[in-house]
Amino acid sequence: MHETPLTNPTTRLAPSPTGALHLGNARTFLINWALARSNNWRIVLRIEDLDTPRVKPGVIDSTIDTLRWLGLDWDDSPTIQSTRLEHHELAMRHLASHQCVYPCELTRSQIESAASAPHDSDHEPRFDPSLRPPSIPASFNDSGTNWRVLVDPDPITFHDTFAGPQSIDLDATLGDFVVWTKRATPSYQLAVVVDDHDQGVTHIVRGNDLLHSAARQIHLQRALGYTSTPTYTHLPLVRGPDGKRLAKRHGDTRIDHYRAQGTTPERIIGLIAHWSGLTPSRTPMSITEFRDGFLLDTLPPGDITFTPQDDHWLTTP
Ligand code: GLU
Repeated sequence: MHETPLTNPTTRLAPSPTGALHLGNARTFLINWALARSNNWRIVLRIEDLDTPRVKPGVIDSTIDTLRWLGLDWDDSPTIQSTRLEHHELAMRHLASHQCVYPCELTRSQIESAASAPHDSDHEPRFDPSLRPPSIPASFNDSGTNWRVLVDPDPITFHDTFAGPQSIDLDATLGDFVVWTKRATPSYQLAVVVDDHDQGVTHIVRGNDLLHSAARQIHLQRALGYTSTPTYTHLPLVRGPDGKRLAKRHGDTRIDHYRAQGTTPERIIGLIAHWSGLTPSRTPMSITEFRDGFLLDTLPPGDITFTPQDDHWLTTP
């Protein structure tokens, strides 16, 4: 496969345009941006509109507008993931020509009943190798079924800049996973790997809910013959007072909601700065002060809890 030399350090901001950029996403983007701008990395903005089945009109523009309002910037015009389908398909053809992928029509309940160990409902059931077809095709056709990639029995090991050394056994925990969906689109895992590669991304900074995905992505990079792996930095998440990942049940924590109530970017950045170890208490802060003060080494290692006091501070200047 054609190899692009990775010369300039490059990172990406990769929001999904779900219309719900909340404080947790804002924190990740702000840290990603600060690391990039203080280390001279190029930043690409990629709108991941393949993540959700249907993107409402106007949501892409409003996602970009929210990022700009916070003070973030990037170096090229934004890339819209759905315009890159031919590149994703090319990657599927490469995987098929190496007999790494196969079509699979099994339903979730068929996969669950073959799984040897119970799984919790937050995770996909493991795909047991006995469910593989007897022969693996050597070409790809987008025929309205899911396609899975074969995984190896060896664990994937990598060093995460923040989360430390990792060893993830895809075979034992997940099994062959979907790379092309019956909706005729690449899965998130495939699209993100192909796009990161084609855009020359060398540094990936994101929430640690995607730590396990990094192993799938490294597996795909190898299967696609990519010769370099990006550097990964997976950051702690923001959680609600109940310990669950920030979501609607914790009230409206969308950036646009605060913006509509008159909250300034400086208050949001000040809260994120406090969460990120820059200040002993909540103080309004400009984005350049955040950039100059942020240090990955002093970022608290645990997840953050979003409290009613935080909300009060944002809404009651
Ligand atoms: N679009 C994904 C999200 O918003 C991020 C994917 C990534 O950073 O790899 O969750």
